[in-house]
Amino acid sequence: MNSEPTPVDFWTAILRGWSGRCPRCGEGTLFGSFLKMKSRCTTCELSLEPYRADDAPAYFTIFVVGHIVVPLVLLLERWGNEPPLWVHALLWLPLSVALALYLLPHIKGAVIATLWSQRIASPKPSAGGLDSSV
Ligand SMILES: [Zn+2]
Repeated sequence: MNSEPTPVDFWTAILRGWSGRCPRCGEGTLFGSFLKMKSRCTTCELSLEPYRADDAPAYFTIFVVGHIVVPLVLLLERWGNEPPLWVHALLWLPLSVALALYLLPHIKGAVIATLWSQRIASPKPSAGGLDSSV
């Protein structure tokens, strides 16, 4: 594709990433499987390899899930007649896992879209590891 792609505003890119689609064209998908990034967009050929989210999606997911679940735990403890611990485990463990599994790919897509829209690409790792020319 040789034509110059149309500019995409920040929030459109974030929304496309949140839905797991390419931030530039909005057509291709970001993920080949659950969290495995494709190397490039199948529609617009945008190279996705330089945009590495690393641990940011996991950090943001834990942050969001914690800010949802912990207040609910405290509310139940305060106004729920102090239920036994097994009630807490039965409620909050599945909710935490389900929320994390739902949010993680969405947040990863949004992080990738943010990196793309801000042109924050990580350098390509060299084939030989450390630079031996020094
Ligand atoms: Zn694309």
